[in-house]
Amino acid sequence: MSILKPYRYHRKESIERRANDILMAMNRANAAPRWPFEASLVADFLDLGVVWDDISPDEEGAIAARILPTERLIEINEDILDKPQGFQESTLAHEIGHWVLHINQEEADGVVKQLELDLGDYGTPKESEQPFVCRGAANSKIYSIEWQAQYFAGCLLMPKFILEEKRKGRDLTKWSHLYKIKDELGVSISNLTYRLQQFGWISIPEGSRKIYRGPAEAEGQQKLFG
Ligand SMILES: [Zn+2]
Repeated sequence: MSILKPYRYHRKESIERRANDILMAMNRANAAPRWPFEASLVADFLDLGVVWDDISPDEEGAIAARILPTERLIEINEDILDKPQGFQESTLAHEIGHWVLHINQEEADGVVKQLELDLGDYGTPKESEQPFVCRGAANSKIYSIEWQAQYFAGCLLMPKFILEEKRKGRDLTKWSHLYKIKDELGVSISNLTYRLQQFGWISIPEGSRKIYRGPAEAEGQQKLFG
């Protein structure tokens, strides 16, 4: 058994359910999530510590964040502190996604117990004590788990029910309306448009700033002008 679960394919629906389960559990525990969203409250709820730290690149390149499973700790590279708040929330939600989907939590807890028994043994760290390293969504080698963690982040920060609520009385094809929604949710504009396109509520052809209603309209337009 490893602290990192073996790779498996997660359906979108099951990732969404995992995120919703956490939001509902928070609700039941009188820790109901609010928007603009603070991902750190989810970390608190899951009993995960979060620190912002200077994480130096290793031989494979830059490190966006690390998870120290046995310490239940997420370390985020403080490089992103100068990025907009929405980007920071998304990064933390992404790491929580790795914790939920990819870390073998029972094994992490087991190692903690083992470490307590082994106190005084200062040998080389076991594989299971190594941090889980997240380099961000761009690394193709680990693209699948990165995609899963990012999809989880979208589900956590922007559950469907809250988007249904926020779209009322708004025109999703207007950037000014989307910017209002993004501020109310506390997310980045790219996370919001990505999520709205996943639902098929809007579509923005690549390289374009024009927002179409739903996927069909954009395709029709492209055929017309393509
Ligand atoms: Zn990641």
